[in-house]
Amino acid sequence: MSRQLCIHGHFYQPPREDPWMGEIFPEDSAAPSLNWNQRITRESYAPLAWARRTDSGGCITDILNCYEWISFNAGPTLLGWMERNDYPTYQRMVDADRVSIARWGHGNAMAQVYHHTILPLASAQDKKLEIAWARADFRARFGREPEGMWLAECAADTATLEELARQGILFTILSPHQAAAVAESGPDDRQEHWQPVRGGEMDISEPYNIELPSGRSIAVFFYNGPLSQAVAFERLLQDGENFWLKLSGAANGGLLTVCTDGETYGHHFTFGEMALAYTLGQAISGRDNMRLTNYATYLTQNPPTRKVRLHEPSAWSCAHGVERWRSNCGCTDGGHPQWNQEWRTPLREALNMMKKAVDAHTTAEAALFKDSAAALEKYGEILAGSVPREAFAADHFTPGLTPEATKKAWQLLAMQEQALAAFASCAWFFDEISRIEPVNSMTYALRALEILKGTGGPTLESDFAAILEKARSNKTEEGTGRTVFENHVLPRRETKASIILQAMLRLWAEKRLPCPNIKNTVQWRNLTVTILPTDVVGGSLSGEARIRWANEPDGSPVEWEWMPPKAGTIHETAITITGKDGSRQTLRYTELPRNKRQAIAMRAMEVANTQRLDAFEEDAANAVALFEPWVEAQHDQPMGHHWKANAPALAVAYMKHPGLSDNQRRQLAQFLTDSGLLIGGGREVITNWLTMRLLRFIESASEPDAKDADRQWERAASIVERARTLLPHPDLWAVQNRMWETGFRSAGARRFATAIGFRV
Ligand SMILES: [Zn+2]
Repeated sequence: MSRQLCIHGHFYQPPREDPWMGEIFPEDSAAPSLNWNQRITRESYAPLAWARRTDSGGCITDILNCYEWISFNAGPTLLGWMERNDYPTYQRMVDADRVSIARWGHGNAMAQVYHHTILPLASAQDKKLEIAWARADFRARFGREPEGMWLAECAADTATLEELARQGILFTILSPHQAAAVAESGPDDRQEHWQPVRGGEMDISEPYNIELPSGRSIAVFFYNGPLSQAVAFERLLQDGENFWLKLSGAANGGLLTVCTDGETYGHHFTFGEMALAYTLGQAISGRDNMRLTNYATYLTQNPPTRKVRLHEPSAWSCAHGVERWRSNCGCTDGGHPQWNQEWRTPLREALNMMKKAVDAHTTAEAALFKDSAAALEKYGEILAGSVPREAFAADHFTPGLTPEATKKAWQLLAMQEQALAAFASCAWFFDEISRIEPVNSMTYALRALEILKGTGGPTLESDFAAILEKARSNKTEEGTGRTVFENHVLPRRETKASIILQAMLRLWAEKRLPCPNIKNTVQWRNLTVTILPTDVVGGSLSGEARIRWANEPDGSPVEWEWMPPKAGTIHETAITITGKDGSRQTLRYTELPRNKRQAIAMRAMEVANTQRLDAFEEDAANAVALFEPWVEAQHDQPMGHHWKANAPALAVAYMKHPGLSDNQRRQLAQFLTDSGLLIGGGREVITNWLTMRLLRFIESASEPDAKDADRQWERAASIVERARTLLPHPDLWAVQNRMWETGFRSAGARRFATAIGFRV
């Protein structure tokens, strides 16, 4: 009997973008990474795209794209970020879907509810939008309609499943604990045919059908709960062979399906991706008569013969329906079992109040649209970048709108987007209202309320805060939901002054403060600021600025005055802007929120570092040539501290420099290694340089008409060899990935591939 295996990975990060700037600002707990998306991509999502298989000597024999062999869903909020920030990994995920379609006829990728919203708690309209926007995003990325959709936390009820089915979704995945009763399919629906399911005890080797009141139906796969739990919590990923045996032992006939969080591989368990790659390799080789598949393929070949009724509403991570996302049900995470989650109810109440007001305002302004419901539903295509703005406006805005009214129509759509982002399930998932997740959620709500007010709707901030006051933080110093809102959310709000101040500080950090009458622009994803200084008086600059928001025309000019900071006085720097009515507003650097100050600091350090390395490059090249090997009874370089202070730059020069004698090279490497400066930050400088340089070599040597390709490969290989004398295990990860994709087509390429760790 054939035994089929489908390993599903759920890849998800909540929306983390600042709602004004459209970019993710530094998240402290993810340091040294910039934010959690970057950190988990590095630890999990990227390693899965490039999982190494090695021989007994540690040489790489193969790099497996695990996404080609597992079922996966990755939400729009994560994929959008990944597309902008780690394109090679993103491309591997998209390619994997195409490869799996070619192999099996159906793709590995599944869609996911757009903002990871608990749909049973959402209004009918919001259910529709979350699913429609997810489909639009999926189509733009994978070039096809999704067949399956992952429900946030597997939260389901009849209305949710009806909407999935209505929008053409064929299947979803749930936990067996959500099943209430099963029966054979067929017209006979008498009660006695239904077998109750207790504690998730049921045959899960085949999909089931759910017959919906509308006459539509949707298929459900139930994952193997104990095995999925074991992957997450029982260290199954420590050993690939062990993982394989566990899976093979559990598979009977039909389909065995295991659901895992993408973060399990690498982030929770280091090298978890290698255990997965090993396991996939076993199945690919046909061991134990097991064969890999994905859900859509299996469903086509094995349509359900049984039907199921669910506990409603239900979700995989709450034993009390969907209470975890609105009350103190006892289900929690975050490591403080003595805390309570009474705050969940007022948080949801405040957000619901906001969403109701936003919806009422959209309805009141419906005359701006030909059909406001249709415009909202199709707005997902604007978010996905698959339809031009002008075409969208022509299709959905009432003909003949004034520029002001057109702007308002766009703002109303953006308001809905921010309002929906506030409902990402993570806001309630953990144990405390002052955590980053609820704070982010309230920030999206604040932005929605701001647009509501700015477009002629009611002013509801104080009502919102009043509801939040009913929420108590578990930390005495944080007070109530209201104080969390006032202390952590309100300071994030952007004003003209704060935006122009940040633009100035960015120009300052990048050492490109403009001269009088020369324009300079600073860009964030959601807005562009144009700065035009017109006057310098005693070191103080003044001029005008324009802010342009995405989808909107240029704003009117704002007059500003600014004194660029002198050494050590940045905390005193302030901008003064003059309003149209002549009113003046001054904003100090210290009044910017912490994450935005950090972004400025980060940029300043980055620029300073690059400039320092660039400036020292020539001197460092001469310095390594001047380096004299030790003579007898010598143990250090004379005035060695001068050399050590420049160790990373010397190391880079050393890797580049082909003309040193063997003795000189050995001694210099020894000296730099002994300095202890090639660990930590120094190591990073070397790794970054090495990666950048080698990627450039690969690029130019593998061009079809490359001149001296073999000599270039040779030089690249010798740089790697020199790098190895400085760092025993240089990080060649990105270089290996690029080389694997390029292929080993010439003798020179094979020689280089060997140097970076491949067995060719
Ligand atoms: Zn619960």
